[in-house]
Amino acid sequence: MKYSIPRGTKDILPADSPLWQKLEAICRHVFGAYNYHEIRTPVFEKTELFTRSIGNTTDIVKKEMYEFKDRKGRSLCLRPEETAPVVRAGLENGLIRPDQVTKLYYIGPMFRYERPQAGRQRQFHQAGVEVFGSADPLIDAEVILMNVQLFEALGLMDLEVNMNSVGCPKCRPEFRQQLKAYFKDNISKMCDDCRDRFEHNPLRILDCKEAKCQKFINSAPASVDTLCADCKTHFEEVIKMLDYQEAKVVVNKRLVRGLDYYNRTTFEVVAKSLGAQNAISGGGRYDDLVAELGGKPTPAVGFAIGIERVIEVLKKSEIALAQQPKVKIFFAALGDEARKLAFDLVIGYRERFINADMDYLGKSLKSQLKLADKLGAEKVIILGEDELKKGYGIIKDMKTSKQEEVKLDSLAEVM
Ligand SMILES: [Zn+2]
Ligand SMILES: [Zn+2]
Repeated sequence: MKYSIPRGTKDILPADSPLWQKLEAICRHVFGAYNYHEIRTPVFEKTELFTRSIGNTTDIVKKEMYEFKDRKGRSLCLRPEETAPVVRAGLENGLIRPDQVTKLYYIGPMFRYERPQAGRQRQFHQAGVEVFGSADPLIDAEVILMNVQLFEALGLMDLEVNMNSVGCPKCRPEFRQQLKAYFKDNISKMCDDCRDRFEHNPLRILDCKEAKCQKFINSAPASVDTLCADCKTHFEEVIKMLDYQEAKVVVNKRLVRGLDYYNRTTFEVVAKSLGAQNAISGGGRYDDLVAELGGKPTPAVGFAIGIERVIEVLKKSEIALAQQPKVKIFFAALGDEARKLAFDLVIGYRERFINADMDYLGKSLKSQLKLADKLGAEKVIILGEDELKKGYGIIKDMKTSKQEEVKLDSLAEVM
């Protein structure tokens, strides 16, 4: 084999693509019902957009970005996530304004240089939404309910929404202080990353997956206990609305997301069949990001689903998978003249959007019938030289194996 696929990427082959198409169609359907509109941005952006938004101390910026210089020496980056590009595009095109609600969604590939492992790839795909302009807890509840409805529409059950509030710039310094005080005595026993986080961003410690750090993290102070009055009311209102809609929500005081820009609501949806570590979507509020990226202060909320992970769950759950398109009518032709006629008829069916096909390898009748069977054809039209001379073809019903003769000029209207 001369060429192989780059590490951490995957081809999506025809056997799987109907499932992708189904998932994408359901995303568009659900997002559309909530009045969200699609935005498509380039797969690369100026590097600074991400260092500014995601945060310099996050793993994504420190280790995982596909950063490169173009031929003019400008630093560009394959997008590791889509929130910052949507904010950039929304501001640049006047879509995001503090006095109006703007609802956007996207579907597409993202890129992170991670160690490839189950469910993690270097090119992966996300579908997500971003809503700008409202600080109302109803909007937090809306995106969470939409996320749940999306998974239910896909047939996924056994879901759990984990939710937390990480506070705001007003109450976070107090939380930071408490974390520093709590970890101070044990930080030397924790991993290198945590020691670094302790200095620059102690909140990130809560996100550590190292086993030796867990016992310290487990009884660390929780952000929900240091919320200011406004953040507390907001959090309670979101939970009240979700309860009212009978969404299954669990408050998870340990939930901090891997990006720096979140404030107040953060959430993840976990598919229990994949195990607790495996969120299939996540998101939250990011009220300061628009201003951070040069816009007027505009509150915002969003989430993204990990498409590969959702596909994995769908396959495990043995949910009725989307069907491959099947050939309806197959032409088995023998001899040049018959093949020419078959080609003409096949094109005619396709122009009416009926899936039709024929043999292109000059195979024997027996092989052609075998191929028609493999393709799942409902009917086969057999056109031999003898039949052609007599002015008819033979229709074979592949289910019943019944054959009948039909005049050539009726063959265009068999289906
Ligand atoms: Zn607050
Ligand atoms: Zn650690």
